[in-house]
Amino acid sequence: MAYPNTKLYIGGEWSDASGGKTLDVVNPINGEVIGNVAHASRTDLERAVQAVASGFKTWSATSAFERYKVIRRAASLLRDRLEDAARLLTTDEGKPLSESRLEVNSCADLLDWFAEEGRRTYGRVIPSRGVSIQQYAVKDPVGPAVGFTPWNFPMSQIVRKLGPAISAGCSIIIKGPEEAPAAPAVLFQCLHDAGVPAGVVNLVFGTPSEISEFLVPHPVIRKVSFTGSVQVGKHLASLAGLHMKRVTMELGGHAPVIVADDANIDAATTALVAAKFRNGGQVCISPTRFLIQTNVHDEFVDSFVKKTKALKVGDGLADGVQVGPLINERRRAAVESLIEDAVSKGAKIETGGHRIGNSGFFFEPTVLTGVTTEMRAMNEEPFGPVALVKSFSDLGEAIEEAGRLPFGLGSYAWTSSASNARRLAQGVQAGMLSINHIGLGLPETPYGGVRDSGYGYEGGSEALEAYMNTRFITHDAN
Ligand code: NAD
Repeated sequence: MAYPNTKLYIGGEWSDASGGKTLDVVNPINGEVIGNVAHASRTDLERAVQAVASGFKTWSATSAFERYKVIRRAASLLRDRLEDAARLLTTDEGKPLSESRLEVNSCADLLDWFAEEGRRTYGRVIPSRGVSIQQYAVKDPVGPAVGFTPWNFPMSQIVRKLGPAISAGCSIIIKGPEEAPAAPAVLFQCLHDAGVPAGVVNLVFGTPSEISEFLVPHPVIRKVSFTGSVQVGKHLASLAGLHMKRVTMELGGHAPVIVADDANIDAATTALVAAKFRNGGQVCISPTRFLIQTNVHDEFVDSFVKKTKALKVGDGLADGVQVGPLINERRRAAVESLIEDAVSKGAKIETGGHRIGNSGFFFEPTVLTGVTTEMRAMNEEPFGPVALVKSFSDLGEAIEEAGRLPFGLGSYAWTSSASNARRLAQGVQAGMLSINHIGLGLPETPYGGVRDSGYGYEGGSEALEAYMNTRFITHDAN
């Protein structure tokens, strides 16, 4: 299949940018330009605002049942086009084809679930204090929204915003990932072919700061959702605050993994190696700080390192590859510098630690032991294929280390003791905790962080709440 350049999708039509500006798309396996994506101008953004305003009028007046049918149809079309979408996703982003297929499938599942949930956005009748008074709360779509989505899950990060938005009756402009635009275009084509009316969903690309400075303050936009780094998230949240916009922020993390000495080590390392190196570690809930109880530290490291060494790194389109390249040179240099800093301060490389080859942005799956909290990697999100292993003697010490950083997104623990599990559930300060398995990110479960990792949820019924206002009505019928 020839690589398709990506256009803007505004008001139900694909178009080049006015002025014809484009951005290169680079294949991370060899650093070569494979195509381009349209770069929205101010004129295009103004057109997108008009479209999203008119889309909101149509869609908010469409019944929840009709919306449900259209969104489910889009999910079904996406499943039909899974293979094309997955190949484009791997070509742009680098993750193995098996992971891309999972991502596309998960998008269809998310759309189905949000569509269903959109039929259950109940208000409530509230018992009144007088017999002639009726009082009730109703849920309304918040209005036209804008979502800024990153490159690490080019399609599913969009669906986590667009899905609940359109299921709740909102319209939305997505600022998609310029690094990986082709799979998002497949998603929008499915929405188009399923019958989503013009203007309800819109897709733009360009210079992120130009787009956010224009759209976030724009009076038509009533809701802002962003996934990305803490630094950019704080900037956008303050801009949105200045204009009193509803906000969801899904930001960075530094996920702790606490392994107690009563854990099944073999089961833990099998699950954790897969989770750590999924998408080359470029995942906001990637397990990062491995806190291992002293008695089982060596056994854990031996098993984890052995399984890490067995991973096959390469072109994600090739058979059997489990880890692809990083997204770009900037990301690879950032990972390298964190490892150099840790090693210079006494960390030991158990495996990996280096770039691979001269072509593309490959980096070895890496395990460091003997890490300390003075090292940058133990404080800054590595967002790459690096596991940092540290021992602890008492569970309280591990819980304290887990909460030391300002982040609070994903967290993991392994233990066979019910009382340890209870202590962890009560003590670990994170938006999500997964004990004895990797169980985060299902459509029906809340997905989001606390503290510097942001606020709001992009899964579960909470995801729809983020796109609805509650209005209270009281009526004296006398
Ligand atoms: P970055 O901070 O340059 O960009 C992160 C994302 O924010 C990108 O999608 C980018 O387009 C967008 N962005 C940047 N400035 C913006 C602005 N002014 N307005 C609107 N959008 C803006 O970082 P990067 O090098 O692309 O990614 C690395 C870092 O980003 C990681 O360390 C990680 O913390 C974070 N990140 C997090 C997630 C996540 O799932 N939470 C995903 C991708 C990146």
